[in-house]
Amino acid sequence: MRSTPMITALFGNRDYLRLFTAQVSALFGTGLTTVALGLLAYELAGADAAAVLGTALTIKMVVYVTVAPLVAAYTDRVPRRSFLVGLNVIRAGVALALPFIDQIWQIYLLIAMLQTASAAFTPTYQAVIPDILPDEREYTRALSAAQLAATMETLLSPMLAAAALSVISFHWLFVGTAIGFAVSAALVIATRIPSATAAAHGSLRERITVGMRIFAATPRLRGLLGMNLVVAAAGSVIMVNTVNYVRDTLGGTQSGVAMLLAANGFGTMLVALSLPRVLDRAGARPVMLTGAATLITGLGAAIALSLANAGDWRWGAAIAVWATVGAGTAAVLTPTGQVLRRSSRPADRPALFAAQFSLSHLAWLITYPIAGWLTTAAGFTTTWLTLAVLAAAGITVAVRMWPRHDPDELTHLHEAGTIDPALLTDAVRVDDRFYRHTHAYVIDAEHRRWPNEAERELAAA
Ligand SMILES: [Zn+2]
Repeated sequence: MRSTPMITALFGNRDYLRLFTAQVSALFGTGLTTVALGLLAYELAGADAAAVLGTALTIKMVVYVTVAPLVAAYTDRVPRRSFLVGLNVIRAGVALALPFIDQIWQIYLLIAMLQTASAAFTPTYQAVIPDILPDEREYTRALSAAQLAATMETLLSPMLAAAALSVISFHWLFVGTAIGFAVSAALVIATRIPSATAAAHGSLRERITVGMRIFAATPRLRGLLGMNLVVAAAGSVIMVNTVNYVRDTLGGTQSGVAMLLAANGFGTMLVALSLPRVLDRAGARPVMLTGAATLITGLGAAIALSLANAGDWRWGAAIAVWATVGAGTAAVLTPTGQVLRRSSRPADRPALFAAQFSLSHLAWLITYPIAGWLTTAAGFTTTWLTLAVLAAAGITVAVRMWPRHDPDELTHLHEAGTIDPALLTDAVRVDDRFYRHTHAYVIDAEHRRWPNEAERELAAA
């Protein structure tokens, strides 16, 4: 792989390596909780487990969308290392309390606490990274590594859980979770974290505004919005419906639940590992659209499967469907970091990654309640059909918004007097009002809109 020396250089920084490992251990903790929580919800609610999980995951998303930006605004005012360690201690404590739960409301309370701590951890962690890695390119790579780690977590944790569940009961998974957070806390303690440089990347409001403005004005990012919806629609089936589908419809056990989740993870891993080469050749758009189409195919197959009455063949079919959804998810998510990088100047990247963080969570905020509550009220077929319609809307937005021909460099016009002349040294005067030049085009202070069709024709003339 071409990127190997860069990654090696990145991990040569020992403070970064410790912090990254801390993040990965915490992710594993979270991943094991996801599996254990599904089984706990089933133990307490039985057939209504989907509603419980839907609610718990909706609480998670509400917390992420509200708490994460708030904390991001204040991270430069708290002692960050103690803050990160404290958050991990809270998470470990909550995980240890989860096996003792016997009421559904207690799940909601503990999930709210756990996810508040997680939602505060992520932006703080992200704010620390640029101080440890002052080099802009290394920092961007670190952002991508973080995203890749999050993707890997969704696949490796269920596999680990599946293996563990064949020998122990699911209550012990929460112990694994607690260990993940404790290891994470220990690694943070061992990291030198420089004190915050006040608002190195602008105030919160500036960052959110900048990120959202770039999203709204860049065609390929509007396409990404649609893809976020497809991923959330299909992913909610996996996250919310797996436990009921396995236990009530297929008549399987805890290991059956973990096995389907692992199949999903396997699909993700297979595609994530084989993708970099394809991505170099084909570019992000066809790969991501293929991924989105794969997700919709998976949803369609799930709907067909929900109409089947009986038969052991459904296990094999379900494994294939869950793996297909995993594969589609990886094909959409893996190129996302590259698309964000391509669409912003280095200085605006943290803002754009933050905007994608919020916007993707908003998509889950729509799909989790549907997967949870509609399933309990109307069953799998109606729910999955509804999610498939949302996914179809998402892919339609993606295809229409993200033009097939999407070069990095655009020839465009600047009106005389509206831009610093120093930026126009290579420009050609078109008439008395406009200058024309060509360069890699991203939305920034000088380029606030995407050139429309008429402007591009004029520029090409
Ligand atoms: Zn320009």
